[in-house]
Amino acid sequence: MSYVDEVYERVVAQNPGESEFHQAVKEVLDSLKLVIDANEEKYRKMALLERLTEPERVISFRVPWVDDNGQVQVNKGYRVQFNSAIGPYKGGLRLHPSVNQGILKFLGFEQVFKNSLTGLPIGGGKGGCNFDPKGKSDREVMAFCQSFMTELYKYIGADQDVPAGDIGVGGREIGFMYGQYKRLTGLYEGVLTGKGLTYGGSLARTQATGYGLVYIVDEMLKKNGKELSGKTVVISGSGNVAIYAAEKAQQLGAKVVALSDSNGYVYDKDGIKLDIVKDIKEVRRGRIKEYADQVPGAVYTEGKGIWTISCDIALPCATQNELNLDDAKILKANGCFAVAEGANMPSTREATDFFLENHMLFMPGKAANAGGVATSALEMTQNSQRLSWSFEEVDNKLHDIMVNIFAKADDAAKRYGVPGNYVAGANIAGFEKVVDAMMAQGIV
Ligand code: NDP
Repeated sequence: MSYVDEVYERVVAQNPGESEFHQAVKEVLDSLKLVIDANEEKYRKMALLERLTEPERVISFRVPWVDDNGQVQVNKGYRVQFNSAIGPYKGGLRLHPSVNQGILKFLGFEQVFKNSLTGLPIGGGKGGCNFDPKGKSDREVMAFCQSFMTELYKYIGADQDVPAGDIGVGGREIGFMYGQYKRLTGLYEGVLTGKGLTYGGSLARTQATGYGLVYIVDEMLKKNGKELSGKTVVISGSGNVAIYAAEKAQQLGAKVVALSDSNGYVYDKDGIKLDIVKDIKEVRRGRIKEYADQVPGAVYTEGKGIWTISCDIALPCATQNELNLDDAKILKANGCFAVAEGANMPSTREATDFFLENHMLFMPGKAANAGGVATSALEMTQNSQRLSWSFEEVDNKLHDIMVNIFAKADDAAKRYGVPGNYVAGANIAGFEKVVDAMMAQGIV
């Protein structure tokens, strides 16, 4: 049995029931096979893949808090500190009822390669809790965040582990958590990113993942003889990533015709009006359905099905495994030629294989959505310097980072004889730096 298959079997056996983690490990190891086979003896002796697929540490803890009726609620919180070979752990916190250890291990594992690809000195981690912020009062969210941080603060720090936002964690939640960290430790340090601008946040961090996604799509299209301007774009989700991907796509001359949330999707043939979406989602915390109530001609459809809308470019920006093989086939049949993942692993393995086999332009999440974490790392730099840069300065750096990530993925794919396969290219490029650092640091 090959080393890759052996390690994959071991991961499945040792992490029962963690299907998303198995899926992420398989996708990465399969695409690294060329590199690993070429170095098999060395890597085997050093148990490199066994170390790479085992988190350095998984912390899980109780999160008790009191709801508005005086009832005590208990949630399950986690921090997965996956790999610190190239820098302090860095990765978001997710608050969603679906959160479990397997999902956070998949996200932490992917984060290791993504963070490496940015070229910045950040290791990989992820955390979160099965708490659902939806429908909770601000006081309940604060009570939860304070309790969550009361346990988490023991394991994080500006030079140790720097969490950020993810699904369900925006400016409000980061603010409550930061306040509690400061109160517990007495430290005013860059321990979280995605902070508000009045207390150490970076300009352009809010926009970074969505803008970065569109910057890399633009670069991928240009390098393949196409252009973004004039194209029709469908984006799933209507959260942080989706909204700012839509904003940048529109700024670059594309027409965004659909957005969704976990209840359904809206189609606006005239192009989505983002000021209305921002008011619904960012101000009123409402549902995407309300868009169709407000905009004449827009149509709301309950349930999944956003990928049946015909488009040139699809940007899945909601959650993992939201785009399956059937969706991929429908997209292609309707003329879609490029897909880039704003979310983490939104395409199933079968859908990803379909895109690659059919020579569609496909940019995987760990490259396409790396702009968020890259800008978080820029926030860390500003915090360390006790400085803040202008929006343009951060945005220009983000743009350069995304262009560079494309170049690295493109180059690695070419070097290993799979030109245009940015899945392999991104995994290989991210892997090379981490492995080099791990080898240099000995058996730890
Ligand atoms: P938000 O919470 O702001 O938005 C998430 C969006 O996805 C919402 O519209 C939500 O709908 C929808 N969604 C969430 N879960 C599901 C589900 N199970 N089925 C269908 N729709 C769902 O999160 P973000 O925009 O921050 O994150 C979106 C994705 O991007 C995630 O995969 C995240 O890991 C990834 N990402 C985010 C980064 C960031 O900087 N924010 C950085 C890199 C990756 P509803 O409101 O109904 O729940």
